[in-house]
Amino acid sequence: MKPEQISTNMVFWISVVVATPAHSGVGGPLTYRSELPLAPGQLVRVPLGRREVLGVVWELLPDSGGLTPAQAKAVLGTLEGLAPLNPTWRKLVAFTAGYYQRSLGEVALAALPPQLRELSTVQLARRLRRPSADTSTEESVRELVALSPEQTAALAQLAVDPRPALLFGSTGSGKTEVYLRAAARVLAEDPEAQVLVMVPEINLTPQLQARFEERFKHLGRERVVALHSGLTPAQRLKSWLAAHAGVARLVLGTRMAVLASMPKLRLIVVDEEHDPSYKQQEGARYSARDLAVYRARLEGLDAAESGKPQTQTSQDASPNSCSVILGSATPSLESWQATLVGRYQRLTMHERIGSADQAAGSLPTVRLVDMNHQPKHCTLAPPLLAAIAQRIARGEQSLIFLNRRGYAPVLACHDCGWKSECPHCSAYRVFHKIDRTLRCHHCGFTERVPRACPSCGNVDIAPVGRGTERLEEHLAELLQGITRPDGSPLVIARIDADTTRLKGALESQLASVHAGEVDVLVGTQMIAKGHDFRHITLVAAVNPDGALFSSDFRAPERLFGLLMQATGRAGRNAEKGAQSEMWVQTFHPEHPLFGALKQHDYPAFAAQELADREAAGMSPFGFSALVRAEARSQDLAQGFLNAAAAAAQAQALPGHDMVTPYPAVPMTIQRVANVERAQMLVESSSRVALQRFLAAWQPVMAATRQQAEFKPLIRWAMDVDPLAI
Ligand code: ADP
Ligand code: ZN
Ligand code: ZN
Repeated sequence: MKPEQISTNMVFWISVVVATPAHSGVGGPLTYRSELPLAPGQLVRVPLGRREVLGVVWELLPDSGGLTPAQAKAVLGTLEGLAPLNPTWRKLVAFTAGYYQRSLGEVALAALPPQLRELSTVQLARRLRRPSADTSTEESVRELVALSPEQTAALAQLAVDPRPALLFGSTGSGKTEVYLRAAARVLAEDPEAQVLVMVPEINLTPQLQARFEERFKHLGRERVVALHSGLTPAQRLKSWLAAHAGVARLVLGTRMAVLASMPKLRLIVVDEEHDPSYKQQEGARYSARDLAVYRARLEGLDAAESGKPQTQTSQDASPNSCSVILGSATPSLESWQATLVGRYQRLTMHERIGSADQAAGSLPTVRLVDMNHQPKHCTLAPPLLAAIAQRIARGEQSLIFLNRRGYAPVLACHDCGWKSECPHCSAYRVFHKIDRTLRCHHCGFTERVPRACPSCGNVDIAPVGRGTERLEEHLAELLQGITRPDGSPLVIARIDADTTRLKGALESQLASVHAGEVDVLVGTQMIAKGHDFRHITLVAAVNPDGALFSSDFRAPERLFGLLMQATGRAGRNAEKGAQSEMWVQTFHPEHPLFGALKQHDYPAFAAQELADREAAGMSPFGFSALVRAEARSQDLAQGFLNAAAAAAQAQALPGHDMVTPYPAVPMTIQRVANVERAQMLVESSSRVALQRFLAAWQPVMAATRQQAEFKPLIRWAMDVDPLAI
């Protein structure tokens, strides 16, 4: 089309979001022209440079904003047959981009299935056909279990209180049954309503999916879909389209599902809400749990706005609102605190199902082994070894749980108890092996590793928790000579990320544990989750101390959650009389975390830990962001961060007086593939001030990066509400 023709035709101006480079941080929607009227939320193909890309129509513009029709590029086509992404979804994307300091396009496009970018409209139309037989929404008459009194109370409370709900229930208390009933209620109330159920790991979806599919099979097979990164691109597209078109009534997914298009979303469930995997660790580093809560509120507000009469003052959860249930036996301290101040309601389920009439339901006894009184350098204390041997002799199974997560190493002296605390902060300094320094990740204070313990002169100072790495190899030696009741040799199996890389490996290993072929199972946190081992009567945590004294302030919370989960694994259905035990080896048996663990008392743990966090101004009482930078040299990476912070200070950016940027430090793992990595912590007591500051800082950082000396920088990015610092 020639330019002179354009001016005579009708021209519509629109802004379109497209995927922008990941680290740019800035960059809003681009202006395009179209000869056809388009609606916000429509998917379009537009030219970008020499490429043709997928974009989302964001706004209709009143004019060209100064561009001549010849300067502006034209929309190439729309994805026909696909309804526009609704306003609520666009608001959610805008919020996510703003809060986590990423571009709109990056968040919007990452939330769409990759295959959508490659499809012609013809193909789309074919996939979008509705399910042939419209299935009945009548629930078939079916035997459902009678709810426990706690389940009944939780469901009743959910029906009347519109606040986000924290379902605080121990493992086996019947939380999943509550999710199922809450979902059933929502789906029955409105024939179009949709439910989103999120789980932390793909590993856990098949079991749960089977349970949901079975319960909702009367809706028709196409109505329950999964959405996670383990699907093929084609499956993922299919699920996404089903959710977007409203065909799928129930979507079961991992964190990515929180940004799925679900036009009639009425309930979001976040199972194991404390799980760190809800935090995206690249690109837009969002917390899917936090976004779930935000999204539920947004869906409710928008449904209320869009006409249907609704009494604003009513406390009832109206059919147009969207509820959110966060479930956990060991909630995140953020969610727990929200229940203490009344922002969330708390629904408690103490009782394990069946515990009233079966001894099997009772919780394991927790035994602490004081490692100060055990032979030096032993990896398994003699009393624990004896207890394991006893289990083997009785034909019972033991689970040895290694807490191998990459905690930032803190140095300690085992003689006097000295730890590498920072003299200026309530934080531990991290041992950096590369240059043998101790560095505070808060204030940056750095010293060379001392030759000997500064407090007692002992030369044997070492990272906390070291010494058990080779346990797996030792174990066979340690248990030598011990045989099963029938005299056959014992079997030790290991389950961790390395042994389960192959598809199906985990399942087959678990099957052999269930079949009783394994006597001692060794594994990392991955076995503490979601698996029900009936014949395990002993669980041992052999090196948990690293998490008690970690520079990562969330480490104790994770440790407590893992140990509670591990106790939940033991002997859920163990034969009568076999009282199960949890053993914990520690140099700090007096630590309050273990006191709370002995009592299986999460609220007591949370109270202590929240008091510590409040005193230190940490989450949920303070707010933080990390800026990370990567370069060929550590000096350059740190120099960039420090220069950007200095520029922010000099320009007195909005919020700067309430925000503290600390000096840049190397990351705990400071060099990866010859790239040096540095980070800078930014803290504030006000979430709003931090948000304003970060938003204003983005362009300053981009400008700093343009300075000649920082051109070689590889990349930088912000992480808002980081999980570890
Ligand atoms: P959670 O999700 O809290 O770990 P589940 O919902 O998986 O607990 O329940 C644990 C077990 O108890 C499951 O096997 C489940 O089928 C069963 N169950 C749940 N609720 C009831 C009930 N009211 N009566 C009998 N069994 C139940
Ligand atoms: Zn010492
Ligand atoms: Zn410090």
